[in-house]
Parts: sequence; structure tokens; C-alpha cells
Amino acid sequence: MEKITSLCKRRGFIFQSSEIYGGLSNSWDYGPLGVELKRNVKNAWWKAVVQRRDDMVGLDAAILMHPKTWEASGHTGSFADILVDCKKCKRRFRKDKIGDTCPDCGSKDFTEGRAFNLMLKTYLGPVEDASALSYLRPETAQGIFVNFTNVLNTARKKLPFGIAQIGKSFRNEVTPGNFTFRTREFEQMEIEYFVDPKDADKFYNYWVEERFNWYLNLGISKKNLRKREHEKDELAHYAKFCTDVEYNFPFGWSELEGIANRADFDLRQHAQFSGQKLTVPDLKENDGYPYIIEPSGGVDRSVLAFLVDAYFEEEVKGETRAVLKLHSDLAPVKVAVLPLLKKNDKIVELAHKIKEDLQKCMVSVYDDTAAIGKLYRRQDEVGTPLCVTVDVQSLEDKQVTVRDRDTMKQDRISVDKLKDYIFNKLYK
Ligand code: ATP
Repeated sequence: MEKITSLCKRRGFIFQSSEIYGGLSNSWDYGPLGVELKRNVKNAWWKAVVQRRDDMVGLDAAILMHPKTWEASGHTGSFADILVDCKKCKRRFRKDKIGDTCPDCGSKDFTEGRAFNLMLKTYLGPVEDASALSYLRPETAQGIFVNFTNVLNTARKKLPFGIAQIGKSFRNEVTPGNFTFRTREFEQMEIEYFVDPKDADKFYNYWVEERFNWYLNLGISKKNLRKREHEKDELAHYAKFCTDVEYNFPFGWSELEGIANRADFDLRQHAQFSGQKLTVPDLKENDGYPYIIEPSGGVDRSVLAFLVDAYFEEEVKGETRAVLKLHSDLAPVKVAVLPLLKKNDKIVELAHKIKEDLQKCMVSVYDDTAAIGKLYRRQDEVGTPLCVTVDVQSLEDKQVTVRDRDTMKQDRISVDKLKDYIFNKLYK
């Protein structure tokens, strides 16, 4: 993890929040390369679950919602961690994370557990009284449930269909940590998939596979990814089944995403609290309430897993090269164009021209601030799949050298075929 955090800072992926003031712990800012990577992760998800499907639509609901939402969802009542204090070393822990032994001092003597609500409170408007009390949403899901009828009526979908959303969520976590893995402000990618209750098991299994494979298709290695089905006593009271997709982080197997069968809990609750009808007209069973399958993942956790999984150190000609073997859909920069001689105006001009042409369709950069070996190493370290080098010969034969990040193999390609070649390499 230290290597990843140091790379993230050094190369502009992730910075500590408000660093000039000493930093706010467990709060992180995505730098120039990090914002590209994160955006690519979100785009890959959005394409897979919304744009390439006919049974899914998107939504972007507000972070601030009517406070009644959180009563109906159960968050004001029971969205809490149980905290215990170790009587010997006085440290505070989440009871569910430590079992019966203090991880710091080994004592088994704890205080009684106390519930701590994880929702972040705020006040809307100038007066800080109970009527102005509001919450920063602790999950994006509720924005989907309260818009269920709006979407049903406007998108005219029939069961089974789903609504997807990406957005910020906030939880006043008691034990944040492990870099961006657990923070108080984070981004979620959530799907609520509405089905006929009799099809719920089928679609639950379908989404577990679908989501597991999404990570594999984007390059996570199979040995580092697993599914873990929740035991009955781990399940939320309304959930019928839940499976976590877990990644083998340097700090241990940890959840990237949970896929749950939430039954009809959410729509029934919101119907009851709002007095509105939240049913599907052509569903005859279960009073018209569909069941909901919810794949709920974290953007920041995915980004971290993709970074960790892509990081390799390799021995090349007696030197160590650090390389991020990111999937080309995720790589922040797709192509770097590098002039072999920066003092030669013609080479520089051609390199700029090639870069500008590539920039119209993919993130491409120009760099001449070091010798070629160093430029390659820099691009390897941030995961750029291809480097295009322009040399003296290029001016005569109109060919350039394309170097592959993973194999380090070089091909000589004519400039007018370069775009085709690159597209084939990146998106075949
Ligand atoms: P955990 O048990 O790790 O606290 P959870 O089971 O409470 O997570 P969910 O409520 O299922 O998490 O949230 C869905 C997803 O949102 C998680 O799989 C995770 O990727 C992401 N997520 C939840 N809490 C955080 C957090 N504090 N920081 C970063 N991502 C989070």
C-alpha cells in the first residue's frame, strides 16, 4: 500500500485533502491523472450498465433529500454502527469488526455497545432548528426509490428494468482508513433492478455474475477477486440474500460491491410514508410491488483496486521498472507522443501535429522534458498503454515508432496508418 500511496501522490493521482493546512485525515483529492482514471471507471460502468442495455436507464438525483426519506428508509432509526471502548487501552472500535479481543492491547474487557448513527447532519437555510435539519445522503439508492414512479411513467419500462446512478454519499464513519478505501465522503455506483418477485432469485444470481465479470473484464486478475455470500446474521433485516464482491487488497480481502435482494422493502416503506402509489400497474402479484435487486459499488474502492492490481515492478536490463498495467479503457492517458530530439524543430513540429490529431479522439500528451528512456519510464508508471516516438528518420520515411507498455515491443508504423493501428491496439 505504501508504494501505491506514494505513487499516487508523486504522479498526481491522489492528494491528501487540504494538505497546506496540515491535511484533513481520511479525505482525499483526485489530481490530474486520478480524475481521468476515476472518470474512466465511472464511464466504463455507465456504458456497461446503462448505455449498452435496453432494460436500464440513468438518474442523477440530488444529494439533499426530504428528511422523511430517511425515516422511511430506516436510516434515522437504525443506520448505526455499534461502538465499544476497550476498558484497558481506552481505544474505541466498531464491535462488528473486532470480535471479542482488542486488536491493540489484546484485552477482552469492553464497555457496553452504543449505537452511533452514521448520517451526516446539516441545516438548510439560516435557522438551525429541528425543522431545518437535513442529512447528506448516506447512499444514492433512495434517490432512485423516490423517483420510481417518475421514471416508470416517463421511460415507459416494463419489468424487469433498472435505474442506475453514480454520485457522492456521506457517512460519518467511526473507523475510516486504508487510504481511499473507507472515507466519510465517497462516490457510489448503484443499480436498483426491479423484477417480478417470482424472478428475483434468477436476477439476483444474474447480477452477481454480471458485476463480478465487470471487474475481470477491466483487468482485475481472477486470483484477487472473490464472491462472498453473507451469512444470515450479517443480512440487513429486509434483505433476503447478499453477496459481496471482494478484492484481495494488501490489507486483506475487502468489499468492493454488494449485490442484495432487497425484496419489496423500499417501495413499500416509501409508499407508506409518502401516501403515494409506488407499484407497477401490470404486476398482479404481491399487491403490484416488484422485488429489487441492488448491485451497489464504490467508485473510490474500485479505483483503488484497479490501481493496486495494475501495479508491477519488473527487472529490465538490470533496472527496476514500475509499471501500471491498467486496462486501456481505464488508463488516464492513452498515448504519449515523444520527440527523440527536442532540438530539431521539424521533429518537434511533427510530434505536435501527431499529438493534436490523436487528441481529437483520445487523451494524448506530448512530452520532451527528458531523455527518451526516462520519458518511457514516466509513462509506464502512470499506465499509458502506447508511446509514439518521432525521430530523424520519421521526417524522411513518414514513419514513427510505437512502443507497447506491457511488452515493451516496438513497431514501426507509417503516420497515415497510425490512428488505425492505435485504435486496434487499444480497443480490439
Ligand atoms: P462496509 O461494510 O465496508 O462499511 P457497507 O456494506 O456498509 O460497507 P454498502 O452500504 O453496501 O457498504 O455500500 C455499497 C458500497 O459503497 C460498498 O460496497 C463500497 O464500495 C461503498 N462504500 C460504502 N461505504 C464506504 C466508505 N465509507 N468509503 C468508501 N466507499 C464506501
